[in-house]
Amino acid sequence: MIFLAPGLRLLRTLVWPGWRSCSSTPAQNVQLNKPGNGFSFELTDEQKEFQATARKFALEEIIPVAAEYDRTGEYPVPLIKRAWELGLMNSHIPESCGGLGLGTFEACLITEELAYGCTGVQTAIEANSLGQMPVIIAGNEQQKKKYLGRMTEEPLMCAYCVTEPGAGSDVAGIRTRAERKGDEYVINGQKMWITNGGKANWYFLLARTDPDPRAPASKAFTGFIVEANSPGIQIGRKELNMGQRCSDTRGIVFEDVRVPKENVLIAEGAGFKIAMGAFDKTRPPVAAGAVGLARRALDEATRYALERKTFGKPIVEHQAVAFLLAEMAMKVELARLGYQRAAWEVDAGRRNTFYASIAKAFAGDVANQVATDAVQIFGGNGFNTEYPVEKLMRDAKIYQIYEGTAQIQRVIIAREHLGRHKA
Ligand SMILES: Cc1cc2nc3c(=O)[nH]c(=O)nc-3n(C[C@H](O)[C@H](O)[C@H](O)COP(=O)(O)OP(=O)(O)OC[C@H]3O[C@@H](n4cnc5c(N)ncnc54)[C@H](O)[C@@H]3O)c2cc1C
Repeated sequence: MIFLAPGLRLLRTLVWPGWRSCSSTPAQNVQLNKPGNGFSFELTDEQKEFQATARKFALEEIIPVAAEYDRTGEYPVPLIKRAWELGLMNSHIPESCGGLGLGTFEACLITEELAYGCTGVQTAIEANSLGQMPVIIAGNEQQKKKYLGRMTEEPLMCAYCVTEPGAGSDVAGIRTRAERKGDEYVINGQKMWITNGGKANWYFLLARTDPDPRAPASKAFTGFIVEANSPGIQIGRKELNMGQRCSDTRGIVFEDVRVPKENVLIAEGAGFKIAMGAFDKTRPPVAAGAVGLARRALDEATRYALERKTFGKPIVEHQAVAFLLAEMAMKVELARLGYQRAAWEVDAGRRNTFYASIAKAFAGDVANQVATDAVQIFGGNGFNTEYPVEKLMRDAKIYQIYEGTAQIQRVIIAREHLGRHKA
């Protein structure tokens, strides 16, 4: 039984029960974000409530322990359990499966706040959304009830298994194979850099089902739901990363892993589109995470600049420092607009690939620029682990790499942009 704070319990009765897919069905529960209601920056009461709950959790429960989790690299189980209790995880699981069925916009609001606290914790939580999204957009009712439903009953994790040692950006280059044998598929291959890899209860896995190298990507791959306790799965060591160190990243080997045909998403050959389609809904929250980190860096740098004195006055009174803060503030505000637009588009039932990549690319760059500038404002102290900003700078880098690198986002933006001009 899911425990929800009173406000969230109320919210659950107010929100629209369905999930908005990439189809043309507009979001019903985001009143002020509905097409036709005009342009507004005002959040609904429910959205404000989610934001306030996530903000309080980040300030009171994540920030006090974030540095220690970063130091030890320990997986933040108590924080994940608490986020789950508060209804801050799995917000997009449909009500028919026991979830809240919220939109991408609400997920983004929550994510920005969690990331303000610690992006290691936020990434562990966000990776659940990434693992679930193929099932949400492509699963049949049985698959959704079985695999999403169990995540509303207890705080379980899942993972998105696509990248391999030999193929990250070039998804069509993956080599994991799935062969049909009777009513099962037998999977062999190796995945790499899988967030929640060692903690997941189940995986979304992309494998090649058509051995013909000339087969187009849109037909050659299949998406599977794989139980993590299936025989033949070997989970690698926890990778020691530059940042977001409490997040669990691993390689996973699949050796003769048998998966029932009931666990195929849509049908054989549909996997590539499902795996890529998930990003339209998960890239805006990743961008929101980058904004949360940048906002934290700006706040830390501002507080420090008001206190630290050189040449007889607070450094904020040196115009060079004040202007640096102004630049940082501009970037945070604009990056937030980017993710809000991308989320609004997909919640309105529109194809948002262009906006999702703009949001992700821009916010990823902003997080890195703003965190680096925060370290600059802290001077020598910024380079030291006793102060919070060096962690922010390390944590920021991954936003230019995972869920499509900064370069791949530009490839997508250019393709979408030029496509509009050619049309
Ligand atoms: C901490 C962490 C967590 C991750 N979590 C997951 C996860 O949960 N699930 C999952 O499936 N994957 C995950 N990944 C993998 C991640 O998505 C990939 O690392 C990323 O997509 C880049 O792939 P790659 O590492 O193979 O780099 P490559 O694809 O080898 O790219 C190397 C460089 O070349 C550039 N490049 C490549 N192709 C082009 C091109 N066409 N044009 C211009 N530049 C190009 C890239 O931008 C990059 O700078 C994670 C990675 C990390 C580090």
